[in-house]
Amino acid sequence: MSTAVVVGSGPNGLAAAIVLAKAGHQVTVLEAADAIGGGVRSGRVDGVLVDHCSAIHPMAVASGFLTGLDLERHGLRWRLPEIDCAHPLDDGDAGLLYRSVEQTADGLGADGARWRLLFGGPAADFDTLADDIMGPLLRIPAHPLTLARFGVPTVLPASVLARVFRTPAGRALFGGVAAHTFRPLHYPMTSAIGLGILTAGHRYGWPVAEGGSQAITDALAAAMAELGVKVQTGTRITTAAQLPAADITMFDLAPTAVADILGDRLPRRTARGFRRFRYGPGAFKVDFAIRGPVPWTNPEVGWAGTVHLGGDFDEVAATEREIHAGRMPRRPFVLVGQQYLADPGRSAGEINPVYAYAHVPHGYTGDATEAIIAQFERFAPGFADRIVGTAVRSATEMSVYNPNYVGGDICTGAKDIRQLAFGPRITLAPYDVGIPGMYICSAATPPGPGAHGMCGANAAARALDRLRRR
Ligand SMILES: Cc1cc2nc3c(=O)[nH]c(=O)nc-3n(C[C@H](O)[C@H](O)[C@H](O)COP(=O)(O)OP(=O)(O)OC[C@H]3O[C@@H](n4cnc5c(N)ncnc54)[C@H](O)[C@@H]3O)c2cc1C
Repeated sequence: MSTAVVVGSGPNGLAAAIVLAKAGHQVTVLEAADAIGGGVRSGRVDGVLVDHCSAIHPMAVASGFLTGLDLERHGLRWRLPEIDCAHPLDDGDAGLLYRSVEQTADGLGADGARWRLLFGGPAADFDTLADDIMGPLLRIPAHPLTLARFGVPTVLPASVLARVFRTPAGRALFGGVAAHTFRPLHYPMTSAIGLGILTAGHRYGWPVAEGGSQAITDALAAAMAELGVKVQTGTRITTAAQLPAADITMFDLAPTAVADILGDRLPRRTARGFRRFRYGPGAFKVDFAIRGPVPWTNPEVGWAGTVHLGGDFDEVAATEREIHAGRMPRRPFVLVGQQYLADPGRSAGEINPVYAYAHVPHGYTGDATEAIIAQFERFAPGFADRIVGTAVRSATEMSVYNPNYVGGDICTGAKDIRQLAFGPRITLAPYDVGIPGMYICSAATPPGPGAHGMCGANAAARALDRLRRR
């Protein structure tokens, strides 16, 4: 029987393990932490359930790989909030994103027709589009016309595409989602990730996993157990000598870590590419336990699973520019999760979990807790008085919790044009490391970050194809 080793057990590592095990390989997963799951784990803070990393899952429900596994069989249940995302403004108005393009457009007044034009077609075609956008960008598309219709705006800087919208709420709603790219919004292709998440959301919504994102990992673990995959936690791989002999070795790791592990064994071109791999700004996370709901000025924000706190489009663009330049803004962009709205079992009586992280400079060593609370107070005065517990994970602690988040970069790499288009190095084979049988499958590879497992599934498919041809 052929053997395979997967180093790292994030969703991509687990996806790769499942694809390889289904193809008949004896698979072993080696994980540095005491538990599997990487960026898809949950735990408790002051008695309430919190997601340690990934929280909102439009890309998971849009993932052909995950949906194909029928994880509901293993207890996975998706829960949708009333409103997917809200972006409150200082004057009390808010941009509101619903799963329905129509409902979103209706709420955006003068921008409704434009929202409909931008998202109506791609959302309706999403399942066809997914064949092309959930893999390497540089290949012959399966559906060129559909891809072209979606793809043209993705090339634009978000600051240019935002000019399509005329209302502050429409511009801010788009800008807050575009900011998920952690790049200055006047840079080319900064519309791409936002358009992808928005389009997937208009097809499937922005759900949370019942019982926490951990439920996704638990379901994947159950699927692996059925296939006989072995898992070894508490095993950090730092040198090639630690790697068991195997027909296929998959690295669910940051490219620089793969370069460190494989050292001189890597072909010079790959080593140079991996060493030059760039990381982006960081995230500073605070989980709050609060008494009652968040006292939002705009009550509709209280129905949203995700809330973006960052003011109008220009302010979001300015703060993203600042963190990119290595400066901590006074009022950072903050992403808030109110997962308990869709999944009330996460609360303990009247105590609710509220998830938040701020975008901060790469490797930021300061404390952003007060800045995050101040952003809440700006749009929900009285928030601070409701806090009964907090758990903080700074940008530097983030990279200890998971070494893939270098400098706190939760995207496993800057999403600049080169890395978005090619992945970890300039090549048309983004999963190959240049050593027969060895591959990289982390979120540094296409289609990039998110708890969708598609990087792992694509890399494993590539590995199997190459093995067959050997
Ligand atoms: C705060 C935060 C919020 C996020 N929010 C969302 C969200 O709402 N929705 C969404 O879709 N995505 C979100 N993400 C991103 C998502 O979690 C990641 O893109 C995804 O987990 C990447 O999966 P992966 O398999 O590539 O690697 P990871 O999940 O990063 O897992 C890598 C694994 O490898 C292990 N490892 C690292 N080095 C070694 C080594 N040398 N030896 C052995 N094991 C090693 C790590 O311990 C880890 O378990 C968020 C991430 C963070 C941190």
